[in-house]
Amino acid sequence: MAIIITDECINCGACEPECPNTAIYEGADDWRYADGTSLEGKVVLPNGKEVDAEETQEPISDEVYYISPDKCTECMGFHEEPQCAAVCPVDCCVPDEDHVETEEELLGKQRFMHPDGH
Ligand code: SF4
Ligand code: SF4
Repeated sequence: MAIIITDECINCGACEPECPNTAIYEGADDWRYADGTSLEGKVVLPNGKEVDAEETQEPISDEVYYISPDKCTECMGFHEEPQCAAVCPVDCCVPDEDHVETEEELLGKQRFMHPDGH
C-alpha cells in the first residue's frame, strides 16, 4: 500500500529528497506524474487511469507535506523499507489503509515509472 503523511507532520522537509519516486511534495505545491520519472505525455497507469504525465495536479494537502499515492511504491524496487518513514522525526509517514496494494502491484508501478531502473 502507499504511505500517507498524517497531519502530525511538522513540515521539516526531511522526507522529500529521500523519495526515489518523487512522490512527496510540500503542502500547497502542485505535483506531476512526470516529476522524477520517465513518464511523458498521455499515459495509462497500471491501475487503468488515463493521465497526462506533464499536467499539473492539485495539491493533496495545503498544510503539510503529502504523498501522491499513484507514485508511491513503498520504496519497492529501490529500497528495503519506506525511506520517508525511516527519516521522519515524528513518525507521521504511515501505511495508507485506503490504498492497499500487493507487492507485485507496487513493483509494477515502480517499473512503469522507471523502466530503465532509475
Ligand atoms: S514510501 Fe518511498 S516511494 Fe513512498 S513516498 Fe515514502 S519515500 Fe516515496
Ligand atoms: S519527514 Fe515527516 S515531519 Fe518532516 S516533512 Fe516529511 S512527513 Fe513531515
